[in-house]
Amino acid sequence: MTNTELAYTGIYTDWTREAILAEVEKQMKPSRFQHVLRVEASSIQLAEKYGASVEACSLAALLHDYAKEHAAESMKEIVLSEGMDSEMTGYGSEIMHGPVGAYYAETVFGIKDEAILDAIRQHTIGGEMMTLIGKVLFIADYIESGRAFKGVDEARRLAEDSLDEAAYFKIEKTIIHLVKKELPIYPGTIYVYNSWIQRKVGKS
Ligand code: GDP
Ligand code: FE
Ligand code: FE
Repeated sequence: MTNTELAYTGIYTDWTREAILAEVEKQMKPSRFQHVLRVEASSIQLAEKYGASVEACSLAALLHDYAKEHAAESMKEIVLSEGMDSEMTGYGSEIMHGPVGAYYAETVFGIKDEAILDAIRQHTIGGEMMTLIGKVLFIADYIESGRAFKGVDEARRLAEDSLDEAAYFKIEKTIIHLVKKELPIYPGTIYVYNSWIQRKVGKS
């Protein structure tokens, strides 16, 4: 299936694919829009491989970074007015753009599917529980063909065999990366790490 044949209009949203692309493109610089398209391509591949809904994964990918370039103040307002975790406001746009992106997916594009909204919400830090769609987006964002960080080849190799192994790898490497760069770690990020590591070593 090519992405131009995707049928989500009338199922997940009333927006056509063409209209979605035009609206997303308006929110960001061209290089980020290209990233979004690569995440979609990567999501479709993973969805086909792991038996997730290609339509839902495509849509989650197209909308995942919708809020990424919005002003931090505007994201903060939404976090507070929508009753999201207010602690996020102390950790900047990187932490807020997923949950705020999910808010726009619902309010601008009319998406009600909770698995799509959760996938967008959790795409930066992951979640204690992630749906298949959530894992597909989480990994696709990490391994899309434009990513070139140290470790990306290992992540791509893991994603060939297991979405969970690839997700755990991303969760662990992100924590290490943040510590090395002396960046503050949002408690939700640690919480997700704890839940994955406890499952991995069989403790609870
Ligand atoms: P992008 O939106 O396509 O650039 O990708 P992501 O949404 O996955 O990630 C955005 C950034 O957030 C990445 O550089 C992560 O390292 C960073 N990030 C993830 N968790 C945390 C955290 O707890 N604290 C901080 N400061 N940054 C984080
Ligand atoms: Fe993002
Ligand atoms: Fe992204």
